Amino acid sequence: MTAAAGERAYHRPETVAEACRNLADAEGQTMVVAGGQTVMLMLREGIVDPDALVDVSAIPALGGVSVDDGTATFGATTTYADLAAHDLSERVTMFEDACAVVGDRQIRNAGTLAGAVCYGVAALDILSVLLCLDATLAIESADGHRTQALDDFLRGDGETDLGRAELVTGIDVTLPPSDAGSAYIKHSSVEAGWPTVGVAATVTVDDGEFTDVSVGLTAVADRPIRAPSVEDALDGAAVSEDALATAAGAASEDIDPSDDRGGSARYKRALTPTLVERTLETATRRAGGAL
Ligand SMILES: Cc1cc2nc3c(=O)[nH]c(=O)nc-3n(C[C@H](O)[C@H](O)[C@H](O)COP(=O)(O)OP(=O)(O)OC[C@H]3O[C@@H](n4cnc5c(N)ncnc54)[C@H](O)[C@@H]3O)c2cc1C
Repeated sequence: MTAAAGERAYHRPETVAEACRNLADAEGQTMVVAGGQTVMLMLREGIVDPDALVDVSAIPALGGVSVDDGTATFGATTTYADLAAHDLSERVTMFEDACAVVGDRQIRNAGTLAGAVCYGVAALDILSVLLCLDATLAIESADGHRTQALDDFLRGDGETDLGRAELVTGIDVTLPPSDAGSAYIKHSSVEAGWPTVGVAATVTVDDGEFTDVSVGLTAVADRPIRAPSVEDALDGAAVSEDALATAAGAASEDIDPSDDRGGSARYKRALTPTLVERTLETATRRAGGAL
């Protein structure tokens, strides 16, 4: 279905193939619209002025969450509210934690996970959660299909590897073991505001030792990142508050914050180890670890 909105073309395809054709055939600048939370703001403020919009919200194949053994797949139009309401959020509690603190109810009801992935700014809460779970993207275009690790897809603050006529169709994540504990904690200067720092963590406790440690950080580098120094420091360590404090201190080696709307680089640097420690503590308790 195609309609004209002023001089801007508006397409509302019902299949992925049709959306890819709309993107490939369009002349000038084209933008995909999913939940529209970011796109509409950018249009209103004159930050973007595309020649065509391709609205993917009416493509049934892009909806839904599926779980298969150790993997979950989120269709591109899965919203924060969809994820929070899914059984998976009871098992992987950092999903529930993160979805609860994104913007306001309207953003959570309309904003999609793939929209956040393609917006790709460093301060997006859900991206460090997805990085923790080694997320991989399914990407479609008129030229074919490709997959890419989220970690490689995110190039810089608001910069991604998405091609001009490409559509993200799904996000695959590797689920932590069923006895793992996870958490996402964000600190904002205003309630429900953009994060000063956000920390996602998942840990398993096996025979009194940490295993399968995974930590992701939001708003402390030019893009959401993993924290390998923290993960290496904790993996195999005996469960204790001292081990958590030591590992959390190593976060300073992984971050490179800048001043942004969430706070100054100096504040972010000071806050990160404390928030990493608190998040790991919550994840450890949820994994049944004795602290
Ligand atoms: C007032 C406000 C407060 C916010 N607060 C927070 C917050 O506290 N924490 C937080 O994490 N986020 C926050 N956000 C950001 C919000 O989470 C994202 O804007 C939202 O997730 C984007 O999803 P969307 O579906 O609305 O994307 P859209 O606005 O529809 O699209 C966003 C971008 O992704 C592209 N795109 C979308 N889907 C696809 C696809 N399938 N394939 C290819 N490209 C695609 C679009 O072209 C566009 O460039 C806030 C946003 C607003 C407006």
